[in-house]
Amino acid sequence: MTANRSRELMERARRILPGGVSSPVRAFNAVGGEPPVVAAAQGAHVTDADGREYIDFVLAYGPHILGHNHPAVVDALAEQLGRGVAFGATSEIEIGLADRIVAAMPSIEMVRFVNSGTEATMSAVRLARAATGRDIIVKCAGCYHGHADALLAGAGSGVATLSIAGSPGVPAGAVADTVVVAYNDVVAMARAMDEYQVAAVIVEPVAGNMGCVPPRGGYLRSLRELCTKYGAVLIFDEVMTGFRVAYGGAQELYGVVPDLTCLGKIIGAGLPVGAYGGRRDLMEQVAPSGPVYQAGTLSGNPLAMAAGVAVLDVLREGSVYAQLEEMGARLATGLSLALGAGGVVNRAGSMVTAFLGIGPVTDYATAQTSDLERFGELHRAWRNSGIFWPPSQFETAFLSAAHTPEDVDAAIGAASAAMAFAR
Ligand SMILES: *Cc1c(COP(=O)(O)O)cnc(C)c1O
Repeated sequence: MTANRSRELMERARRILPGGVSSPVRAFNAVGGEPPVVAAAQGAHVTDADGREYIDFVLAYGPHILGHNHPAVVDALAEQLGRGVAFGATSEIEIGLADRIVAAMPSIEMVRFVNSGTEATMSAVRLARAATGRDIIVKCAGCYHGHADALLAGAGSGVATLSIAGSPGVPAGAVADTVVVAYNDVVAMARAMDEYQVAAVIVEPVAGNMGCVPPRGGYLRSLRELCTKYGAVLIFDEVMTGFRVAYGGAQELYGVVPDLTCLGKIIGAGLPVGAYGGRRDLMEQVAPSGPVYQAGTLSGNPLAMAAGVAVLDVLREGSVYAQLEEMGARLATGLSLALGAGGVVNRAGSMVTAFLGIGPVTDYATAQTSDLERFGELHRAWRNSGIFWPPSQFETAFLSAAHTPEDVDAAIGAASAAMAFAR
């Protein structure tokens, strides 16, 4: 093993994969430094191609709530491998995962499995539009709902604005029916609902894709009331928060009942999976029980279903959420002290973001006031201390059941040292 194996592999990757990656954030463009090429992972640790070990606060951007390679998941996958990996037919393991999701989230009476969070949100929006006979959807600035055209709408100002496309290649027409309002702003949402014939409001009940931004007290309840009043479908995008902030997701934590819910990440334990579900009268409009078309060759994939069942069974029986809450508090408190006046820490359970800026971060506009240079410096310091932290100010860090207090303290210690050096 040469000391530059990661670099060599990345150079090879860049010649044949755009940016050397299969998803943009992995290229470290926002923070600088050479992105790692990961060779293996176990528990709360990843090892790069040079044999260097890191404490992992990325956790594949959310799925690994039990850490990498939890024995229950490994055993379930091995067992399923012996039975086959894809059938193009309903399997018992798929019914089993659906049972668990329906039991965990009372708002979900029926569920459809897909292959990613992107597919889940795209399909939920289609269903909401079909069910209401309306086209307009409202989303919040800074909330990410996957990369489907209609949801790749740029940030608006505080007041509702019809949005412009957030990427070249997205036709204006594809986002013409997408209205963007500020997160945590009930007045802007109420105005949008009043002004447009809204099919659906789609929201991250705890925002995790502008960094972690929890909902203000009463915000989600107000969205529920507005959707009910105007006959719009309330879609909670719980791809990140489902089984993360509580077993029953943010809807359990905040006691608000959406019409449709999107899931992904944790329910696949690191295998490609997504799901959308909700009220029976809505879900029965999905083909073939209804006319709203949506399909997938590998949807309900038995390997992914088996991994999901294994994770949910550990989460349901154990005391993982109490442990994650404790460790999350430890990390957030420690980081807050380390940052001092140079930053603020947002947290929801085991979702944590250290914003390098002043003042509270409550929406995309305030998140964007962060000092991205300083975040880059902090990130490189973490990297040099063996801490694998999400490589963007606007990504949330995660904890798993495999993280020890020592792992958490290592991240805090490295941040303290970096901040002291910068002062
Ligand atoms: C990750 C994520 C998505 C997209 O899921 P993919 O599996 O990457 O397509 C959608 N919504 C939220 C809230 C997410 O965190």
